[in-house]
Amino acid sequence: MALQESIKSLARHYAADIVQTRRHLHAHPELSFQERNTARFVADQLRAIGIQPQEGVADTGLVALIEGRKGTESAGNRVIALRADMDALPIHEANNVPYKSTVEGVMHACGHDAHTASLLGVARILNVLRDEFDGTVKLVFQPGEEKAPGGASLMIKEGVLENPTPVSMIGQHVAPNIPVGKIGFREGMYMASTDELYLTVRGKGGHAAMPDSLVDPVLIASHIIVALQQIISRNRPPASPSVLSFGRFIADGVTNVIPNEVTIQGTFRCMNEEWRAEGKKRMVKLAEGIAEAMGGSCEFTIVNGYPYLKNHPELTRRVRAQAVEYMGQENVVDLDLWMAGEDFAFYSQVVDSCFYRLGTRNEERGIISGVHTPTFDIDEASLETGAGLMSWLAVRELAAMTS
Ligand SMILES: [Zn+2]
Ligand SMILES: [Zn+2]
Repeated sequence: MALQESIKSLARHYAADIVQTRRHLHAHPELSFQERNTARFVADQLRAIGIQPQEGVADTGLVALIEGRKGTESAGNRVIALRADMDALPIHEANNVPYKSTVEGVMHACGHDAHTASLLGVARILNVLRDEFDGTVKLVFQPGEEKAPGGASLMIKEGVLENPTPVSMIGQHVAPNIPVGKIGFREGMYMASTDELYLTVRGKGGHAAMPDSLVDPVLIASHIIVALQQIISRNRPPASPSVLSFGRFIADGVTNVIPNEVTIQGTFRCMNEEWRAEGKKRMVKLAEGIAEAMGGSCEFTIVNGYPYLKNHPELTRRVRAQAVEYMGQENVVDLDLWMAGEDFAFYSQVVDSCFYRLGTRNEERGIISGVHTPTFDIDEASLETGAGLMSWLAVRELAAMTS
């Protein structure tokens, strides 16, 4: 427990710095894959404490290693990766705070400023404690979480999971629905895959009084919309959560004109990679078949998004128990499934991973807005926890690895 006390006191010691870092990042947000100043800032902060980062991974990403040197046994294969994302969103901030975004129309509305500041806090804490642990902590500062194809997929392609290869990977995300001081875990399925669906249904437009001489794409598209939902209710494995939603249906005719075509856009989300592939195949076949049977055609384009995020059950159980050690039983909560996407999912598909939520809500202070809204903010008291807890989880998990 001496190590836990050291971590807690270092987290307290650096808390004000971590808040300052978060405020600097918040005031200077950059959009996905444009995080140049952010990356430079992170690199400078790391160099200032003697850590030499590898820059330019996936262009604006960085990787840095902290090697433990407790040296009690051979620990060469013990590697844990910790991830923070760095990008902001195209949202205009509506908060009136001293650290308000200085960039018109760009805002850290998903808390990635808090993730990056926390991970820099972890770097400071673990750098001081090098003599207290064995193994390697790999810090991953990742660009472009909010935008396809996802910075995580690019960092993996550029070898972030090699040299050295992490045994496990941990990521945290702010949670405006969880009170500050608490954190949340979920084993197994947690967040959804996200695929974008684009359909163009073509027919033959003309005077609405003579439908017999036309091919009505509005009716075809309507049949397709209804029929596709049956794939969710009839073909989906019942234990696989899935969502199929269409937010755009454009038939640009008028009362007496049937248009030539209808465009539809939607999203398909699920938590099973086999079903994900199968479901999409069925959708295309069904839509094309209906259109053809009704005399028209359907061009169905799918833009593949992130896979589903799975929290490795054993790792998550262990990390949850370690979090209880650090936070107390009463401050560790269970999470529901969430059908939103998150590109940490790419890591979770290839390395044992755990993605947990850091409570940032403070009702008394009115900090209740959801992520991706112009009034999103966090209770900054969460940052001390964010840095301290992640440091604790890293050293505990390294100690749990058999070399
Ligand atoms: Zn987001
Ligand atoms: Zn996010």
